[in-house]
Amino acid sequence: MSLPQRLRGVKVLKAISSPIRLQVLNLLFDKGGLSYTELMNSLKMNPTRDAGRFGYHLKFLLKVALVEADVETKKYILTDLGKTVIDVADRVEKKALKPRGMLVRTSHSTLEEFEASKIANSLIKEAKIPVEIAQKTAKDAEKLLLKSKIKYLTAPLVREVVNAILIERGLEDYRHKLTRLGMPVHEVAALVEAKTEVQGSAPILAKAGKHVLSEYTLLNVFPRDISDAHVSGAIHVNDLGTWLLKPDEVIHDVRFFLQKGLQSTSPYQHTTRAPQDLGSALSVAFSALLHSSSEVNRMQTIPYFNIFLAPFAKGLEAQKLKDHLRLFISSVNQHVEATFGLSLTAPKFVADKQAIGPEGRATGTYGDFEGESRLIAQLTLDVVSEETLSKPMLNPRLIVEIDFEALGDETAKEALLKAHMIAEAGEPIYFHNATQKSKRFALFSGIGCRYQNELTGDWETDVLRTGCIGTVNINLPRVSHESERDKAKFMEILKERYELAARALEMKQRALRQHGRNSLCFLSQSANGDTYFRSENCLSVVNFVGLKESVEAFSQTSLQSTESLQLIDEITQAISSLRGKTGRKLGKRLFTAILPNHKASERLAQLDIEEYGLAKVKFSGTRERPFYSTAVRPQVEGSTPLRVAPELLEVHRKIKNFGTGGNLAIFELQGPKYKPEDLMTLTNQFIEKENIEFLTYDRRISYCSNCQKSYPGVLHKCPSCGTISSLILFDRFGYT
Ligand SMILES: [Zn+2]
Repeated sequence: MSLPQRLRGVKVLKAISSPIRLQVLNLLFDKGGLSYTELMNSLKMNPTRDAGRFGYHLKFLLKVALVEADVETKKYILTDLGKTVIDVADRVEKKALKPRGMLVRTSHSTLEEFEASKIANSLIKEAKIPVEIAQKTAKDAEKLLLKSKIKYLTAPLVREVVNAILIERGLEDYRHKLTRLGMPVHEVAALVEAKTEVQGSAPILAKAGKHVLSEYTLLNVFPRDISDAHVSGAIHVNDLGTWLLKPDEVIHDVRFFLQKGLQSTSPYQHTTRAPQDLGSALSVAFSALLHSSSEVNRMQTIPYFNIFLAPFAKGLEAQKLKDHLRLFISSVNQHVEATFGLSLTAPKFVADKQAIGPEGRATGTYGDFEGESRLIAQLTLDVVSEETLSKPMLNPRLIVEIDFEALGDETAKEALLKAHMIAEAGEPIYFHNATQKSKRFALFSGIGCRYQNELTGDWETDVLRTGCIGTVNINLPRVSHESERDKAKFMEILKERYELAARALEMKQRALRQHGRNSLCFLSQSANGDTYFRSENCLSVVNFVGLKESVEAFSQTSLQSTESLQLIDEITQAISSLRGKTGRKLGKRLFTAILPNHKASERLAQLDIEEYGLAKVKFSGTRERPFYSTAVRPQVEGSTPLRVAPELLEVHRKIKNFGTGGNLAIFELQGPKYKPEDLMTLTNQFIEKENIEFLTYDRRISYCSNCQKSYPGVLHKCPSCGTISSLILFDRFGYT
């Protein structure tokens, strides 16, 4: 280095040796640029008395080119050299202040020396904060931390300090990107110390994980209006914690696995070959359900269960077949929520399909195995009815498909009678009315979502290997409240909520399309380029909660009144026109539904009571446990023949138009035993006269674990042993 260069360096050092000059440089670094007067004011100098002294120092700084005057703004600013000098001075100060270095425990459990530049870099990288703001924030955070003399400095603590500074400066949006997501310590402690209702390590882990992902979705994925609507209870996003990861339900095509066996989902796993007999076929089906269960939120349905398994039952004696089915059903009961569709007679479009038999080989058509298929249906019903004798069984659910052929067929009728025996006991058995030939193909899932072939016309493509991507519930009573009995306003708010819900669903669809290969390892397996789960064909469902309470609050009369029915009609029309107008834009398979949803029913009612007060909210249930009902649930009157009040059927008929994406007629059984024959006659009447598409009978059952016996209704004491604590209530639709 030449002598003149060195001399210049000395001059620079001399320039910063004066506290006033260093203060000027610091001020210009922090504020960006200041005028002559602003500088003097900031230094608390008197404009007349100190003018000479200040002028001297400023000139010094200008001469050594640490400061320059900006002609445009008429302000003094730092030169690049000036910035470098501040940086050096800073580092020197830091070294002096912390002789041994401040150590930070990082999130990857290592110790690192504290460096402000690391903070600045992560601010820029994580939150895309402009460089200048990032550097200033980092510097401020450092000063604060040094001053506070913290003993145990962790990365989260540094982050907290940085976030506090960002909030203080009104940089809230950056803070959202930088914040940590998680649970307060006392909530985690409650989980770990078994002070909550969550039991078992997997559910505890799930609860903690979902908490983080829910916060993430609300803070960083949804736009503000959707998040606010969910948090305030205008809508309820189903399973927010897994919104970006899992579909709500899946409709399986079990033939895929029967033909190809099971692919491994990890390189260290074995693949399972195509099954050779009924035992291995059921084992493959169970494995497929088990694998999928971690990738699905709510329900898995296997339609045509008895038909697709029939080729494997060829030549098997009934008792053997029944033993296999019993083992299968009890495994499912313990491990996976699932629904099996049973067809008492094979519909022609299924019967004509090429059958997949042992070792994945084609073996005639499914029509060739009608006997086996009926036997499997019959024996499945037998097993379920025998198992429920000892204890009610809420899982698996069965859907019995009834078409005209079944109604006229003696063996089918026998199976149907058995199904009604199970239904009478309050078990989860559903009846699907497939008699409406004029209607397009439709199929229901175990939670009542409705799938049809409106996409391409082909039932296999449109329905199987798809599912429901997600559900957003709309709080209808809230709409009533906000509209203040003004119908136009009601419809306007409804439209706004519907669009919010549709946008949230669209975001979910996109997330699964982008990241599904990663989050849905099992479901996205493919064979010969054919991916199993067709997420792009899935339904999205907007579900309406509290129709009854909403309509009654708005019309100030009962649900059956002319005014209420009129309002239901108008809401239905408004929604179907919304669907027509915006439907395609918002998603090709966006449907509406009225289906039970425990979480939404309770949460939305509670939030409304908090918002408007107990006296102003119409709700169902008790004050301690309020909820919004999902639909009308007519009671079966015990007269002969059994009947249901026609005005309630009328309400159901109106509501059905809501449910293009799902509806379920629930009929309550309350009295003592009904004859299965009578119940079957009632079902036939619903099918033939009322055109009800999907129905179930609900009966609440009290089970005494002491006597191992079930009793109809809600009991508070076992009638046989008198114990109170041994009673378990089986209530399928409680609080919905
Ligand atoms: Zn008892």
